[in-house]
Amino acid sequence: MPDKLKQRFFYCPKCGGKLNYRYYQGIPRLTCVSCTYVLYENPVVGVAAIVLNDKNQILLGRRKEGQYQGLWCIPCGYVEYDEDVYDAITREFKEETNLDIDLIRVFTVQSNFHNPENHTVGIWFLARVREGFPKAGDDLDEIGYFDLHKVPQLAFPTDNIVINYLRKEIMRGSIRDIPPTSKL
Ligand SMILES: [Zn+2]
Repeated sequence: MPDKLKQRFFYCPKCGGKLNYRYYQGIPRLTCVSCTYVLYENPVVGVAAIVLNDKNQILLGRRKEGQYQGLWCIPCGYVEYDEDVYDAITREFKEETNLDIDLIRVFTVQSNFHNPENHTVGIWFLARVREGFPKAGDDLDEIGYFDLHKVPQLAFPTDNIVINYLRKEIMRGSIRDIPPTSKL
């Protein structure tokens, strides 16, 4: 039986009944004792966009509040339940930086396990700025371009992994085809 301390949900979202673990093919799943609803615990999908300027500096934002307050991240957010994943990243980026972006391609996909309360799968896109005046908004209180070798302290461990990949790709020259974006 999984550690009760790690149980995140206790009541059925459908009927309010009590949730207990039951095993399905060896996997414990929270199951409602009243209506038998099974609460599948899946990672949430997050999206982030990598924007580089003509000096190959990356646009980062400083988080305004919450447990990661004051730490920096690649601008990111969650995909809404009824939202297309590509719409989600352009919306999130606009909310956080006031910039309209064009997506180039998916750069990488990573699982995020750093927050036990909320495991996510993150999709990092390469993007370029189409238009807009840069201004921090929503979850961010400051944005700026940083040299890939001199990034400030980051909120999420996977952003560090992604930035390492970026350094390597840039050294290999494989993302040199990305045209410069507008400057802050
Ligand atoms: Zn129920």
